[in-house]
Amino acid sequence: MSRSFPAATLRAQMAAIIEAAGSSTDEARTVAHNLVLANLSGHDSHGVGMVPRYVDAVLEGGLAPNASAKVTVDMGAVLALDGQRGYGQVVGEQAMALGMARARELGSCIMALANAHHLGRIGHFAEMATAQQLVAIHFVNVLSRPTVAPWGGADGRFGTNPCCIGVPLPGREPFLLDFATSRVAQGKMRVAHNEGRRVEAGYLIDAQGRPTTDPGVVVPQPGGASLFGALLPFGEHKGYGLAVACELLGGALTGSGTWHRPADTQRAVINGMLTILLDPGKLGTRESFEAEALAFLDWLGHSPPAPGFDKVRIAGEPEREARVRREREGIAIDEQTWAEIVAAGKKVGLSLPDA
Ligand code: NAD
Repeated sequence: MSRSFPAATLRAQMAAIIEAAGSSTDEARTVAHNLVLANLSGHDSHGVGMVPRYVDAVLEGGLAPNASAKVTVDMGAVLALDGQRGYGQVVGEQAMALGMARARELGSCIMALANAHHLGRIGHFAEMATAQQLVAIHFVNVLSRPTVAPWGGADGRFGTNPCCIGVPLPGREPFLLDFATSRVAQGKMRVAHNEGRRVEAGYLIDAQGRPTTDPGVVVPQPGGASLFGALLPFGEHKGYGLAVACELLGGALTGSGTWHRPADTQRAVINGMLTILLDPGKLGTRESFEAEALAFLDWLGHSPPAPGFDKVRIAGEPEREARVRREREGIAIDEQTWAEIVAAGKKVGLSLPDA
């Protein structure tokens, strides 16, 4: 069972909860917009269902409302920032604004952001960059309960470490590849668990390392520290290697830290993000880049659809299609997720309609 909400209603309600949890009106609006955009983009795992977790993290002291990204190193085309455990949606945008200004001025910028609370959809930051005709590459680690098993391992040792690449395209929407290095995002397991669904084989292992289709094995239980199982990395040993690269670059190199301890009950999710920004105009290849990129994408698009597909897409298209559909039809929220949001509102003294 689920109910459908217009995006504007969800934005207003989520902003009200976040503000009641201590954020300024502007911060609450930015976070709510970001979360609802994730729902609109088809990624409910990174949408309004995160609000209960954010409220708990604020109440526990792991997430600091109204914090700003602080510059710790400024060498022109190399920037380091400390997110000071502020809302990732806010400190992430602040860090990107600074990095993009440098990339436009100098041709490129390497920007390391440490200690951001959950950055949400990493594609949001790549979209900021491609809107300014910049290429963006992001490696991100996740300090939270370790949910993903190493290739060949039988328990969770690290997070869903996302990787994202955005490439602007002349006269067209950008290529926007944005994915968790786990077989699926953990939030999608939370959504499936809340909806009472089993998931496809190949995503999960149980506490003994055996394959399972029960998403509950990676959904934290109230007050409990340990998970019963783990997600598997995507792409076998190759996806596992990319996940480790995200931990080394997004976690170790940024100064945010890596995960190397048993799970605890903390609700905070801390992201470290290494971002590489590049102005393709400054490489002297703009004309050939644009012509070659479009020729290649047209070539891809002419591939005849395989059985079960209507056409060949590039990364970024499914999210843009979902936005058009969900703006029109509304955003479906399952009853369990809505009940959790209502309960989160109550914790900060706000009444929303019950599920
Ligand atoms: P996913 O498996 O849905 O993959 C999404 C990517 O694949 C997108 O780039 C999409 O455009 C592309 N894609 C999907 N179908 C396609 C098709 N038919 N043809 C071509 N390309 C296609 O995403 P996911 O792994 O579940 O990740 C979801 C979100 O979770 C991402 O936005 C990611 O940044 C976010 N995330 C965030 C954190 C964090 O800690 N902040 C952790 C993990 C994931």
